[in-house]
Amino acid sequence: MKPAETLGKLEIKALLAGEADDWLFARADEVKRQYFGQEIWLRGIVEFSSYCRCDCHYCGLRAANRDIERYRLSHQEIIDSALKVDKAGIGTLVLQSGEDSRFRQDGISRILSTIKQQSQLAITLSLGERSHSELALWREAGADRYLLKLETLDAELYSRLRPGRVLDKRLKLLETLKSLGYETGSGIICGLPGSNSDALADALLALSAMELEMLAVGPFVSHPQTPLANTANGNVLECQRACAILRLLNPGANIPATSALDALQSGARLDSLSRGCNVLMPSFTPQKDSSKYLIYPGKNASGCPLEQRLADIKLSLKARGLHCSADRGNARRQINV
Ligand code: SAH
Ligand code: SF4
Repeated sequence: MKPAETLGKLEIKALLAGEADDWLFARADEVKRQYFGQEIWLRGIVEFSSYCRCDCHYCGLRAANRDIERYRLSHQEIIDSALKVDKAGIGTLVLQSGEDSRFRQDGISRILSTIKQQSQLAITLSLGERSHSELALWREAGADRYLLKLETLDAELYSRLRPGRVLDKRLKLLETLKSLGYETGSGIICGLPGSNSDALADALLALSAMELEMLAVGPFVSHPQTPLANTANGNVLECQRACAILRLLNPGANIPATSALDALQSGARLDSLSRGCNVLMPSFTPQKDSSKYLIYPGKNASGCPLEQRLADIKLSLKARGLHCSADRGNARRQINV
């Protein structure tokens, strides 16, 4: 896809440093409106298990964290939550979890087929690193998209923060996903300790060269029960700049305003929708469990019932001249309006 602006590394670094915020945010908003009009895609996310076999240093769900109460939804609970997304007039369901080996190939397939039979939902999976055969089977069972963030494109930092894992494998998995016909998404955490704006500029260019349909940048939020407790959080403004730059480099991609923004600064998530982002992902995880999906502090912190949260989102978007779309919300190859 042709970028809206041709930006080299030096220009990106200047933009990340805040040298032209007014231009950057206005141009990102303009490009987003050219491709998506006033519409914001909502994705209903069901976070169905907080069990994880991985030990990512940044994440509260890491296996070594024994101080959290874990949960796992039943197959029926997952299906019921998914159908609520459909009933709310939202076109895409995201199924996300820790890397939970208890959810095997066949179980996930059955869940996917049932949801597909009973709804028109597009389905995005975000289940971490899974085998080729699992990914192929789930695609056949109806999964449309897969989200697998690279987190950092610095191979050494990647292996340090994700013990036992290597960046190259994650990159190859993204290729596998594409070859299986998934709409594929990736992204990074902005402000991870050990990273800097030079690496961020490199990562934005590398991600853009991968021609992905979904791109996400969320700020790092330090979790007290991880090795990165007492580490500085990411910077909200820098993260918004990174998203705006991604919009200029990938005009028709889906770019979510991540909930981690709100964890650091209330309202920052909605503001990002006027700074290049076009996707919001309200949680449809049953309220009894949603606050236990504690990837970082502040995640799913609103104690409000789902209906209230959805009504609030609609009102806030309206106040910004935006509206929620019931569309499946595929990435766009060309200017739409
Ligand atoms: N287990 C799957 C999906 C769930 S984790 C996976 O890892 O791919 C979803 C995302 O949460 C991760 O991709 C990561 O980008 C984000 N995340 C984890 N810990 C975080 C933190 N402390 N701050 C910000 N984002 C975090
Ligand atoms: Fe598990 Fe994902 Fe958290 Fe890593 S980021 S510990 S894979 S849930």
